[in-house]
Amino acid sequence: MNVNQPSERQKMTFWEKLYLPEIARGLGITFKMLIGPKMTIQYPEEKYHPGGYYRGRPVLVLDEDGERCVACGLCSRVCPPLAIEVRAGETDREKERYPVKFEINMLRCIFCGLCEEVCPEEAIVMSKDLEMVFENRESAILGKEKLLVPVAQLQDRLEYLRMHQYYEPPARAQDA
Ligand code: SF4
Ligand code: SF4
Repeated sequence: MNVNQPSERQKMTFWEKLYLPEIARGLGITFKMLIGPKMTIQYPEEKYHPGGYYRGRPVLVLDEDGERCVACGLCSRVCPPLAIEVRAGETDREKERYPVKFEINMLRCIFCGLCEEVCPEEAIVMSKDLEMVFENRESAILGKEKLLVPVAQLQDRLEYLRMHQYYEPPARAQDA
């Protein structure tokens, strides 16, 4: 078989050889798109409001019992660019351990969502926060005071995770 010869499928018809009908067809698609619904927004004048599917800045979940994190360290071990630092402390409450220190270096984070995927407590989730500005390297390292977000603000993402994840989330009193 001669590889330089076009196959039957690759051979052009008479109209394709003329090119003009194909150009007209392409322009037709372009004009159809011009009057169709717009897929772009004029950011930042227009704000983008993504749904639960969006993977923005990872945050820690704060519910009525306090922070959910039990400082198991799984997220920090799985994080590919080593962006998470967790230091555990003991507590006499039911959950026994909590993060004395929890930091995410947003200069390293690649928004992969693996921390969220491995967390056994649904304690770290990807928020919808997409607007991040840091004036220096220190301000890009977020501690607990910036990471903790009330669970009510994360409902979209939590519902999305429950629909798509492969394991059962831990049962919680407020879910009953
Ligand atoms: S989203 Fe990925 S890179 Fe960012 S902190 Fe989580 S595991 Fe690390
Ligand atoms: S956020 Fe989740 S995975 Fe990370 S230390 Fe806390 S409980 Fe463990």
